[in-house]
Parts: sequence; structure tokens; C-alpha cells
Amino acid sequence: MSLFKSRSTESSKPKKLWKITRQCLELIFESAKSSFPNEFGGLLRRSDLLDDTISELVLLPGTVGGDRHAIFRMHMKPIDYSIVGTVHSHPSTNFSPSDADRQMFARYGKINIIAAYPYTMNSWRAYDGAGNLIELIVVD
Ligand code: ZN
Repeated sequence: MSLFKSRSTESSKPKKLWKITRQCLELIFESAKSSFPNEFGGLLRRSDLLDDTISELVLLPGTVGGDRHAIFRMHMKPIDYSIVGTVHSHPSTNFSPSDADRQMFARYGKINIIAAYPYTMNSWRAYDGAGNLIELIVVD
């Protein structure tokens, strides 16, 4: 056994439990449906810096769509500390992040949602910046 703590246990902070409003998720699904068969991308915003609830979707005008994994033109990203992560759709039933997705997550988001086809409450997942599956609680 090693006496060294692994990187993941270095932090003594309690793990944050992030939430998202149902309304925001529904907007994500609607945006994904209207972009289909292309991908759509956006940013996740919380309305209150003291609250860990994602309540707004910010669509990025420069988002590249296409059947390949898309990549956000992140220079479009506003400098805004209420932005907590990214969201994009997959026009397939696969909601696993691609290598390109993982790179994007690592650079830009604490919370990263992938909405997979058919874009329902059962076809999305959330990942942290390292690409690990995380729990995101849906609130009304
Ligand atoms: Zn992707």
C-alpha cells in the first residue's frame, strides 16, 4: 500500500452536488431535436453564483455542427463566472464522450452534458472535467 494519497483524494472539500432545472434540460432536448441530424452545442449557466443549480442554456452562435464530433469554437465563450460547463448533442444513441469531447471537458467545463438521440430524460448523461460520469439532479 502506498502512503501517498492519490490525486483524487487530495481535496478535502465536500463533493458538490450539482443540479439542473427540468426546464433547462427540456430546452436542451428541444435544441438537440431542432439541430438533428447535426449536433448542437451550448454552455450551461447558473443563475446564482452561490447556488449549484444550472438553470440556463447559452447557445453558441459559432458552434460547428456536423456528423463528426463537434467542436465548440470556444473563443466565443463569454467571460462569465456563472458559466459552469458545456452541453452538446450526439445524433446517435451513444452518450459516451469521444476523445475530443474529453479534451473539451478538461479545458472548459466542470459539468458537461451529452444529450444523445432521441433526446429524452432517459438519453442524457453528465460528466466532470475528467470525463467521469457524475450525478446531476433534476429539480423542478
Ligand atoms: Zn460528443
